[in-house]
Formats: sequence, C-alpha cells, structure tokens
Amino acid sequence: MKRSELATTAPGPGPGPAGIDPAALTREQLHGWRCALCGTLLTGDRPLGTVTLSRGPTLTIYPLWACDPNCATENAWRAAVTHAAGCEACRTGECETGQRLLDAYATAIRQEHAEGAG
Ligand SMILES: [Zn+2]
Ligand SMILES: [Zn+2]
Repeated sequence: MKRSELATTAPGPGPGPAGIDPAALTREQLHGWRCALCGTLLTGDRPLGTVTLSRGPTLTIYPLWACDPNCATENAWRAAVTHAAGCEACRTGECETGQRLLDAYATAIRQEHAEGAG
C-alpha cells in the first residue's frame, strides 16, 4: 500500500487526476465506494489523487479511488466470478462462457504485468 502518495498530491480546483472531471462523478465515486474511473464497486483500491468540488462558497476535496490493480483486471475477475456463482455448467466444469471469462482474466493479468513491473 502506498497511501502516503495522497499527501504529495497538491489539491486544487480544476480537472482531477488522469483528466477526471469531478462534476461527472457520482456521489458513490466521490465517497470512495466505487471506482472513479469505471464505477465498479471497490473491494481492493488504489489512490488516484484528489479532486475539488465547489458547491456555492464551499470547496470540498475528495480523495479518489480506483480498482486495484487496475480496472481491466478487476472487471475481468468480477465477470468470471459473478458468472460462475450463478452458472450450473461451471459447477460441472464444462462451461464455455466460464472458460472464456477466465481466459479474459488471465489475459488482463498478463497485460498488467507487461505494462507494470516490466
Ligand atoms: Zn475501475
Ligand atoms: Zn458458466
């Protein structure tokens, strides 16, 4: 965890990190319940930095969070798990959809590693 990075992000008005428009974020995203990038309900999360929202005279700074390790991997994993949870065929181990979702997850992991540590 590198939460200390938050402290080094200077808050200020204007566009948020990674070009995020704070006005476009939902309440759930501002409060860190959902990923600020893709809107997925967060389980693991990583800090994105902060955005500042003005409501009348009040400026409020919100720390933003995103899927950990990244949106593609998180969403691929969720898709596979969500499908398997409700799929009879997956329980017997003969489900093309389940296999396809797991393959997508494996691909996302590989891409993440390719882009990440190098
Ligand atoms: Zn996300
Ligand atoms: Zn299945």
